[in-house]
Amino acid sequence: MQVVVVGGGIIGAATAHYLAAKGARPLVLEACSPACSASGKAGGFLALDWCDGQAVGPLARRSFQLHAELAESLGTDCGYRRVTTHSISVKQGSAPGARGGAAQLPSLPGWVDRDHVGQATVIGTEETTAQVHPELLTKALLQHMQERGGSLQLAAVTGVEAEGGRVKALHVRDSASGEEQTLAADAVVFAMGAWSSQLASWLPASCPDVYSGLKVHSIVLADPQQRTTADALFLAFRGTDGKSLEPEVYPRPNGTCYICGCSDDNAPVPPSAADVHPRPAAIETLRGVAASVSEKLGRAEVLQQQACFLPTSSDGVPVIGRIPGLDNAYIATAHSCWGILNAPATGEALAELIVDGKASSSDLRPFDPARFARRRR
Ligand SMILES: Cc1cc2nc3c(=O)[nH]c(=O)nc-3n(C[C@H](O)[C@H](O)[C@H](O)COP(=O)(O)OP(=O)(O)OC[C@H]3O[C@@H](n4cnc5c(N)ncnc54)[C@H](O)[C@@H]3O)c2cc1C
Repeated sequence: MQVVVVGGGIIGAATAHYLAAKGARPLVLEACSPACSASGKAGGFLALDWCDGQAVGPLARRSFQLHAELAESLGTDCGYRRVTTHSISVKQGSAPGARGGAAQLPSLPGWVDRDHVGQATVIGTEETTAQVHPELLTKALLQHMQERGGSLQLAAVTGVEAEGGRVKALHVRDSASGEEQTLAADAVVFAMGAWSSQLASWLPASCPDVYSGLKVHSIVLADPQQRTTADALFLAFRGTDGKSLEPEVYPRPNGTCYICGCSDDNAPVPPSAADVHPRPAAIETLRGVAASVSEKLGRAEVLQQQACFLPTSSDGVPVIGRIPGLDNAYIATAHSCWGILNAPATGEALAELIVDGKASSSDLRPFDPARFARRRR
C-alpha cells in the first residue's frame, strides 16, 4: 500500500513510522526539511495527565506511554528523560537577596537563582512529566520509517486532483530541482501543520477554512558544564516593563537549555516554513527570562534564536481522521501546544485507520474532521 504523507513534522513522521510498522510503504513529502517548523523548534515537554478532562486526554495518556516505548525501541538517543516540573513566579530585576533564599524554596533545583523567585510549587513528578528533543525524535522516526522501506522526498505539494470520492493524484514540486510531477497514491495523509489551510483551496468541498497558526519564539542556550538538572520550569514572569509572560524553561540532557514564550498573536502564516523569522525584541525578552532564572544562563551563548507556528483549528481541538467525502484522504493537524506529546498516539491510530479500516488504540471520534461540515449545515 503506497501512502503519501504530506508534511515532515512530528505528526507526519509519527504517522509514517506507524504505517511502516504495519507494512505500508509511506512516502513522506516535506516542502522544506524534516522538523523545520514547530516540530524542530518546540520544547518537547510531555505530561501524562495534564490534558485529562479535555478531548485529547486519553490520546495524551496513550502517547505518554508510547514516548517511553519509543525511547527504548528507536535505538537513537532523542533526549528522552523523566523530569520534575515546577511552577515558579519570577520578577525581573528584583534586588539580590530581596526574595526567598534557598531555605524558603527547598524544592527548587540549585541552578535557579532564588533572588527573583517569589513562589515555587512542584506541579509534575517523574511519574507524570518527561521531555524529549523534538527535532531528534522527528528525524529518528523518519529514519526508522526509511529503514522499513518507506521514503522521504523534499518536495512541496501544490495541488490535489480528486474525482469520484477519491484523491487521484497530487501535484508536487521537487524542492531542489523545481521539477513538477504528478503522483498517484493509494491513500494520502495531510499533516501540514499551520499550512493545513492550503487544503481549503485544494479541496474546497471537503475541507473548510478552519486552520491557522500562532507564531511563538524560542531560544536554545549552551549549558556546556551541564549545571542544570532534569527539571522543567513553567514561569509566571513579570518583566521590568511591567508586562506578564508565561515562558517555559527546559534544560536538556545534551547540555543545552531551551526557553520559549512570546507569541505574536496576529502574525500571518507565511507561504513556507522557510519564511518564518524571529522578532529581535522577542528574543531579547527570552534572554531576559534566562538571566532572571539563572545569572549563568543569562551569560550563556545563544545557539539558536527562532520562531515557528504552532498549528491550530477554529475550535481548538486537533483534527485527525478521514476527510469527509474522500475515501482515501486523511488529515492530522491542529495539535496546538501538545503536538509533540500527542504525535505517537495520533500516528498509531491513523495508521490503524488507514491500513485496518479502524483505529483501535485510540478513539478518534472527538477529532473527526467531519465536525466542521456538520456545523456548517
Ligand atoms: C514554541 C513552541 C513550543 C512547543 N512546545 C511543545 C511542548 O513542549 N510539548 C508539546 O507536546 N508540543 C509543543 N509544541 C507544539 C508542537 O510543536 C506542535 O503541535 C507540533 O510540532 C506540530 O507538528 P506538525 O507536524 O503538525 O506541524 P509542523 O511541525 O509545522 O510540520 C508541518 C510540516 O509540513 C510541511 N508542509 C507544509 N505544507 C506542505 C506542502 N504543501 N507540501 C509538503 N510539506 C508541507 C512544513 O514545511 C512542515 O515541516 C510547541 C510549539 C511551539 C511553537
